Amino acid sequence: ADFYRQMWHQLRDTGAWSGEIWNRRKDGSLYPEWLNISSVRDEGGQASHYIAAFSDITERKAAEAQVRHLAEYDALTNLPNRVLLQDRLGQAIAAARRAGSCLALLFLDLDRFKNINDSLGHTVGDQVLCQVGERLLTAVRASDTVSRLGGDEFVLLLPQLESPAQAASVAEKLLHTLATPLAIDDYELAVTPSIGIAVFPEDGEDGDTLLKNADAAMYVAKESGRNNYQYFTAAMNARVSQRLLLENNLRQALARQELALHYQPQYDLHSGTLVGCEALLRWRQPEQGLIPPDRFIPVAEETGLILPIGQWVLREACRQAQAWQDAGLPPLVVAVNISAVQFRQANLAALVQEALAASGLSPCWLELELTESMLMEDGERHTQTLAQLKAMGIRLALDDFGTGYSSLAYLKIDRSFIRDLPQDAEDAAITTAIIGMARDLGLETLAEGVETEQQWSFLAERGCAQMQGFLRARPMPADEITALLGRHGSATPANG
Ligand code: C2E
Ligand code: MG
Ligand code: MG
Repeated sequence: ADFYRQMWHQLRDTGAWSGEIWNRRKDGSLYPEWLNISSVRDEGGQASHYIAAFSDITERKAAEAQVRHLAEYDALTNLPNRVLLQDRLGQAIAAARRAGSCLALLFLDLDRFKNINDSLGHTVGDQVLCQVGERLLTAVRASDTVSRLGGDEFVLLLPQLESPAQAASVAEKLLHTLATPLAIDDYELAVTPSIGIAVFPEDGEDGDTLLKNADAAMYVAKESGRNNYQYFTAAMNARVSQRLLLENNLRQALARQELALHYQPQYDLHSGTLVGCEALLRWRQPEQGLIPPDRFIPVAEETGLILPIGQWVLREACRQAQAWQDAGLPPLVVAVNISAVQFRQANLAALVQEALAASGLSPCWLELELTESMLMEDGERHTQTLAQLKAMGIRLALDDFGTGYSSLAYLKIDRSFIRDLPQDAEDAAITTAIIGMARDLGLETLAEGVETEQQWSFLAERGCAQMQGFLRARPMPADEITALLGRHGSATPANG
């Protein structure tokens, strides 16, 4: 309506109008036309007629699109060419910079392609390039770009990367897709690629640098025997292969019963009584020995393995807590660490409920340790999950604390603040402030990583309620807790 209003407006004012409009043919099909309208006026100067002249510009439009296509696409394979790649790369870098995320460029060059061209002729060579292009497309997401720079050089842009290591999985997939020989005329042709990977921002802040470094990495792949991929940085290569190994092993860990929980006692700082314990995951890998959680939990989170593992932890911790009570030992609050990935699941409350039901443990003896970053992520669901858990009677604690949240039972002060107490003036000030602030918020505090008597008394003097640390006890197998509980007598829920 607006369009026509303006058209009439101009016709009245100037007596003429011209422009592009969509019109319909008699057969119902739409086409673009170029329309000129001029008015014919009578003696009194009033418009009596309008004369419209139009031309069908379908072909001109098609030609324009064709020109654009020729400028941005490779004529042989119909893949984006360097121009379009650079355009998309520029946009992807800007988006990644805004989001603080990473992206990867994969530079792929066919091994010994020249042989095919020289021995079988260019027609066969061209068909090889087209088929390779098609296969590459099947191996990536729709949001990725597969481009051909010329010759036998392809460049893939992966704009949405969860981690630099993910580029390796894509490279593996590309190697796999090209592993089946190509059928061309009567030939079965085996082609293999060498792939170089550059990751933003580590390997370059701009498109040209990334392209150059992916190219350099591709040459390293050629030198290391072809049919493989290499990251631009050696450190990245080492990290990725280590990580892949870790990931493969971790997939087996649950089934092979390599995971166990240790429990670290938590004490009341004033009476010295045992009030609870934190369940801490241990992985004894047959070949590599004990792997610390800081190394494998991030991998479990990235791969989603944290969901089955986390559920096992919940069930096992509840089972153990109930087993202690069934043995007639004084009840003890067991704290379980919850990963952000678990917290984001829709049904966390239901899963917790299931672990409680399976063990028969009353919710007041289960505590979930959440982290600040989880609570900072906003979202209706998070608030809802928190409310559900609280309504179930489960205790919630904030691990690795920095800011306060009033629905929690207590704050756990991160080990890094406790380590240099009481000498480090800054840590002393921060710790004192946290304890004071928590008190004002009506929360209790638990200091983590207490290793010395001086730290104990510093914290006790400032009103910190509880401690956990090597000074009193290290994480230990369940049966040692059994012994400890037997000796200790009463344990009360840490926050009444
Ligand atoms: P966290 O939840 O902050 O656990 C406390 C860490 O501090 C534990 O490390 C514990 O062994 C260590 N610690 C306690 N007292 C002392 C001390 O006096 N001195 C020193 N130097 N260290 C002390 P750990 O067991 O290596 O666990 C590391 C992190 O791994 C945990 O930090 C937690 O974030 C994560 N984690 C452990 N088990 C699980 C689990 O079952 N699920 C999830 N999602 N994360 C877990
Ligand atoms: Mg914890
Ligand atoms: Mg902690």
